[in-house]
Amino acid sequence: MKTLLTNLNIFDGERCLPGRQHLLFDQSSILALIPIGQPLPEADEVIDCTGKTLTPGLIDGHVHLGAFGMAPAESPADCARTGAKIAAQVQQVWRYGITTLCNCGVGGNVDILVRNLIRDGVIPGCRIVACGRGISITGGHGWPINHQCDDELTALTAARVQLREGADLVKLFATGGMGTKGSIPNASQLTEGQMKVCADYAKQVGAFTRAHATGLEGAQRAARAGVRIIDHVPMDDATAQLMAGQGCWYCPTIVTRYRILHTEDPRYQYMRAKANPGDLEKKKQALQRCRQYGIPVLAGTDAGPNEMVTLGDSLWTELGIYVEYDMTPAEALHCATAGAARALHLENQTGSIRPGLCADLAVFDGDPTQTIADVATLCMTWQGGVLRWHR
Ligand SMILES: [Zn+2]
Repeated sequence: MKTLLTNLNIFDGERCLPGRQHLLFDQSSILALIPIGQPLPEADEVIDCTGKTLTPGLIDGHVHLGAFGMAPAESPADCARTGAKIAAQVQQVWRYGITTLCNCGVGGNVDILVRNLIRDGVIPGCRIVACGRGISITGGHGWPINHQCDDELTALTAARVQLREGADLVKLFATGGMGTKGSIPNASQLTEGQMKVCADYAKQVGAFTRAHATGLEGAQRAARAGVRIIDHVPMDDATAQLMAGQGCWYCPTIVTRYRILHTEDPRYQYMRAKANPGDLEKKKQALQRCRQYGIPVLAGTDAGPNEMVTLGDSLWTELGIYVEYDMTPAEALHCATAGAARALHLENQTGSIRPGLCADLAVFDGDPTQTIADVATLCMTWQGGVLRWHR
């Protein structure tokens, strides 16, 4: 079944293509980009998209699927419940143009199981990059759903177990965090040595690592250890320099704090009172340092566990914040398309409009490459060449 979308403005993941184009694809891949004026190819279905803009399907590079708080969620009943929730979530995100999610920790490796069901065509859903259980110190951030490791050997074993179970990446907890009772948010947790054995092994087998790091020391340990993606950290110059030198990616996840600081909802005023508006300024500076030092940014939201930061629309807000903090709309979209795909080792599958890649596509009535808020004019989402959502 071949589909032809005609007369599109196209953002290919890197840049806006000149003029208008037609796009031909089938259920296995993007087949051709045809400049306007050339003869139209044969297709089973032709959709006139005059005035519309097409981008690669969006990627949220940091979510928490199936999160029911920090309960261990490892019993068969818990896993079934989590699996059912994830199976619903991976269809709901199409409403937001999202075709890939990177999950950053869940009990029972349930995201890996759901990913496999989608891959094998058992259930429909967006692409999941799955990490399953994370690795932390005993009692560290996220411990109820992690392997708890206090030396290098146990950390290495845990990484090997996760990769054996089919994880695409290994999630490391370099510092404490807000969400775990008794864990001090910015205090360093896993050692550089523990993260290094995991990072080295993941690289050997073609996988990668990422680290939760809200404190500078933890982020620096992770960067020195060779961890690929560093999450959250409001970096200073020294950390930025180190991350750039090590080729790290940065995943800012700003929307969580942004929503807390901007909420008018009376239920969340107690959180707003606790949050420091200076945190947003630090994130803004972190994005500026990424530009200054050439650190690539992976768009990510941390959506899932907090009902203020819901899956899908949070990515739209996150991209809006990047633009508010001085990215161009096209740069922000790049962080959620071609850039994100590269960060997650998916550049040969998705994230760009290029013949041979999966037809993961988002079509907008407006033009989010000019006005980022136009992501809300989404009218169609295609996953693997199948229309999965339309207005
Ligand atoms: Zn997270």
